[in-house]
Amino acid sequence: MGEETYLQCPCGRVIKDASEYKIFFLKKENREIDILCPNEACHVRELGYILFGFDDNKVKLRKAVWYPIYVTWNKARLGGESDNLLREHMKGVIKRINWKRIVDDYKNYLEQLSKLREEERLEEAMGESVNEAER
Ligand SMILES: [Zn+2]
Repeated sequence: MGEETYLQCPCGRVIKDASEYKIFFLKKENREIDILCPNEACHVRELGYILFGFDDNKVKLRKAVWYPIYVTWNKARLGGESDNLLREHMKGVIKRINWKRIVDDYKNYLEQLSKLREEERLEEAMGESVNEAER
């Protein structure tokens, strides 16, 4: 291995270990977990993402990828060596994910969504009955 065997975000932030990334589960509708640069002022922000789904009620990893900007940047710096590092970092990120919390968050989201839908249906139904009365 060379001397500079660390990854770097295009913003300049050096990332030596998977523990440095920020992990957010915000895009719940997509079942997407975002992997963000540790630098608060980063202009790139999202470096990768993880998609999950369910098989027989069990959470399953569907996809775990780095965005091309992060891959290309590090390939230009490190050449082929970057592939291994990127793979190692992704493995580390996946290990860090608290799946129980992700699943709980997702279930809450679905519950809220169905409540919202119910309210919408109720409002629609009420709207219809008002129209009926006006006739
Ligand atoms: Zn950055």
